[in-house]
Amino acid sequence: MRGAIELFTGRSGRAAVALATVLLALPAVSQVSFERRPVTNEAWLEPFPAHRVVGDVYYVGTYDLAAFLITTPAGHILINTGVYDSADMIRTSVESLGFEFDDIEILLTTQAHWDHVADLAEIKRRTGARLFAHEDDVPVLEDGGNSDFRFPEGRGAIFEPVSVDRALQHGDTIELGDTVLTLHHHPGHTKGASSFTFDTEDGGRTYSVLVVNMGSVNNGVELLNMPGYPEIAEDYAATFAAQKDLSADVWVSSHGRHYDLYDKFMPGDSYDPQRFADPEGYIAKIEEYEQLYLRQLATERAQQAR
Ligand SMILES: [Zn+2]
Ligand SMILES: [Zn+2]
Repeated sequence: MRGAIELFTGRSGRAAVALATVLLALPAVSQVSFERRPVTNEAWLEPFPAHRVVGDVYYVGTYDLAAFLITTPAGHILINTGVYDSADMIRTSVESLGFEFDDIEILLTTQAHWDHVADLAEIKRRTGARLFAHEDDVPVLEDGGNSDFRFPEGRGAIFEPVSVDRALQHGDTIELGDTVLTLHHHPGHTKGASSFTFDTEDGGRTYSVLVVNMGSVNNGVELLNMPGYPEIAEDYAATFAAQKDLSADVWVSSHGRHYDLYDKFMPGDSYDPQRFADPEGYIAKIEEYEQLYLRQLATERAQQAR
């Protein structure tokens, strides 16, 4: 089903027809429709080779939309999906690394924008995994993006709504097997935007890892005039300060280009636990987004003063 409007029944094939028939006989139960937006960014859909980042951390995303698999003896954690229909690509990537897609137990996201969460509902259905998210991104996840702060009147659902099993706050930990992730609330890009820190082992060494959500400012966002998110400018400022205080042996981010993936890794490259170290690059990247934010803030202030 690839029309402008999709009707979700939660099953596929013949089961869907049977289920739809049952549901049609009842008042609206669990059917949710959403408007499927055209995906024009080819880098979002282009496959990219799955690869080991460091220790138990693996890249399973597309060319630009990063998704990370963290494996543990008790099952796996998946951070982010891609846009629509990314479940199959992620599954292929997970299996190419020798792991089982069905062993994904926990789903996380760095931000509730459709390019990172559109297939959470499908992956949750297929794996039975639980979804944890920062409490301020929960409404957007559960209404398919309708309550995105850029659209105070609502925009309609643009991805399949997905229920969140646990709402998280800054400093909360996510534990699976012997792996413990800590959530860092980094709001601005979305209200519940999140980064994660944790340790992973490799070759007798422990590496600290940071999956950071960069504070980029999307089109349509006005820092000084955002009725759906009045405190956005202050949130961004606090996020940049907090991110500059973080450090890790290895860092990655929500988009490949946000951590210069293509400069650091070429398809076919062998595993090197230092490949994504780059501590100077980390600070430079945070400052790059901070400068863009400050420039936009200055422009908006000048316009207001006019
Ligand atoms: Zn985003
Ligand atoms: Zn994005």
